[in-house]
Amino acid sequence: MDKEYVKKLAKDPRFIPGIYNYCDRWCERCPFTSHCMNFALSEEQFSDPEARDINNDVFWAKLSEAFQVTLEMVKESAEELGIDLESIDYETISQEDKIADDTAENHECARAAKAYGKMVSNWFNSSKDLFEEKADELSQEVQLELPDSNPRAEFLDLKDSVDIIRWYQHLIYVKLIRAIRGTLREALQSLDEVPEDSNGSAKVALISIDRSIAAWGQMRNHFPERDDDILDILVHLDRLRRKTETVFPDARAFIRPGLDYTDQDT
Ligand code: SF4
Repeated sequence: MDKEYVKKLAKDPRFIPGIYNYCDRWCERCPFTSHCMNFALSEEQFSDPEARDINNDVFWAKLSEAFQVTLEMVKESAEELGIDLESIDYETISQEDKIADDTAENHECARAAKAYGKMVSNWFNSSKDLFEEKADELSQEVQLELPDSNPRAEFLDLKDSVDIIRWYQHLIYVKLIRAIRGTLREALQSLDEVPEDSNGSAKVALISIDRSIAAWGQMRNHFPERDDDILDILVHLDRLRRKTETVFPDARAFIRPGLDYTDQDT
């Protein structure tokens, strides 16, 4: 991979510019892989199993190559925009970044999102026996072939709920931190408008919360004996959702490139 190749790829009309900026990174489930340059590059760079193994030198060599190309492209863009990278006051920026990091981490939404991540880990850690019992129960049902049961469908539904909850468990926090940091950065630069990037990131967090709430709803059906603590999690998530909508009132209306286009746009 070199920068000329990446630039050529960026001009490929198959790809929707910036689609990967506001997605949930769940490429396995994404219907837009053929329109995503990020996906095409990752497939190319990390297609062989060695390049996907973080314990293998090939992985780190590929990653280093990707960073190198990104750096070269940043330098080139800066030159085109007339920005002198040498004159940038990195110390001030790093201090501002530190303030933004600390403030974002202490924001009510970020704290609630972090707490949610822990609640999920605790719930699954305390449910190991429950999952084993459920596996036994479903395999017995498969063998008995009972007329009114569909253990395979139940298994797939349960697996889907778990996959969704686990995928978004930490993503909600990451996206909220990015959204909060974005608004702080703009505030430090004395700009009044909430930056679009913040709304885009907040929207991904909100969608992640919506999907997690729906998945926990499914979990209630599978594990009625854990209804109380699932309800606690749902209440926590709902509060986080409402708080996020208050802090980022325009987030839901943000149009994510490619992902939110309607038929009329295409
Ligand atoms: S847009 Fe889809 S394919 Fe591209 S990075 Fe996001 S999830 Fe993956």
